[in-house]
Amino acid sequence: MNCPWFGAEDFAILRLEVGRLICYIVHEMVESILYEKLSGARVRCGVCQRRCLISEGKMGYCHTRLNSKGRLYTLVYGEVSAQHIAPIEIKPLFHFYPNSRAFSLGTLSCNFRCIGCQNWHIAHSDPGVGRTEYVSPEESVRLARQYNCQGLSWTYNEPTIWLEYTIDGARLAKEEGLYTTYVTNGFMTPEALDRIGPYLDAFRVDIKGFRNDFYREIANVGAFKGILEVTKRAKERWEMHVEVVTNIIPGYNDDEGQLRDIARWIRDDLGEDTPWHVTRFIPHLKLSNLPPTPVETLESARQMGMEEGLRFVYLGNVPGHPSENTYCYSCGKSIIERHNWMVLSFSIEKGKCRYCGVKIPIVGHYVGVKGQHDES
Ligand code: SF4
Repeated sequence: MNCPWFGAEDFAILRLEVGRLICYIVHEMVESILYEKLSGARVRCGVCQRRCLISEGKMGYCHTRLNSKGRLYTLVYGEVSAQHIAPIEIKPLFHFYPNSRAFSLGTLSCNFRCIGCQNWHIAHSDPGVGRTEYVSPEESVRLARQYNCQGLSWTYNEPTIWLEYTIDGARLAKEEGLYTTYVTNGFMTPEALDRIGPYLDAFRVDIKGFRNDFYREIANVGAFKGILEVTKRAKERWEMHVEVVTNIIPGYNDDEGQLRDIARWIRDDLGEDTPWHVTRFIPHLKLSNLPPTPVETLESARQMGMEEGLRFVYLGNVPGHPSENTYCYSCGKSIIERHNWMVLSFSIEKGKCRYCGVKIPIVGHYVGVKGQHDES
């Protein structure tokens, strides 16, 4: 498509802002698929639950969507800030194609501004400021195949930010027999979910806490209930495989009330077989003054999850801890042994525990021989 301002096909978008010149260089400015045109050349974005009202010449909260002459455009279509070949366990997805490799892609910016973000270097970086490389959807699928990956994952920052790109990539990936996954904060609108839904296999979602004031303080999000509703919709309407992560931050979301509420919600709305990963917070940004989460706190959270009826609760960011392993909920034997995202042994045969024969909920097949994955 042509630049609405200069007419060139590959172009620089120039914008004067408070006396300084900011240059956005994008490969192609693609029109948003979810927005409403309003009076006075304003638009309402429908991609995430912020539903930004954007005046002509302005961008939304995430700084990835620009209103140009009453039409909304994404500035990050195909703009890749990070690409890696990663074990699926690092997402973490523990019950989905174990030991497989996902070609993993992220862009710039985010619709959250988490004060302790571990990927702040890309998630807090605007298009045109952080470095990107254009990778077409076709190329992303070709690279996944070239590097012997079994699927694609959009991760590192919120994948909804480049919804249009992930839809195009996911559609192509499915045609090629690859799996597709989102690592998401779940703050997308139901409409956005419904656009990607037909092409997305797994939904690895953060449920960061269970109080509005916590979400407001940590991520500048006023209400979190919409995240729960979208996650439930991903499972029920689109039959995605769902795994939940709660990064436990000392003094913020480590209270028994929130942790038990999360566990009960997972049990009641997603099901007792849904994996819950309670992960160790590593200090970053404005939370650099905090200590890493004590291992005892994580163990206590895991215990609460099990008491509330969840069958699979894992510890994350504690390499070598026994709770990285999967234990059969019936006989208690260790049936998948892991260390730091590597699968060391796999004792599930035809979907059942090798020791007692009970069915173990795993989506997709175990991939390859046990051992180390490549990272790049
Ligand atoms: S994606 Fe979300 S934050 Fe970005 S412009 Fe749209 S509604 Fe606003």
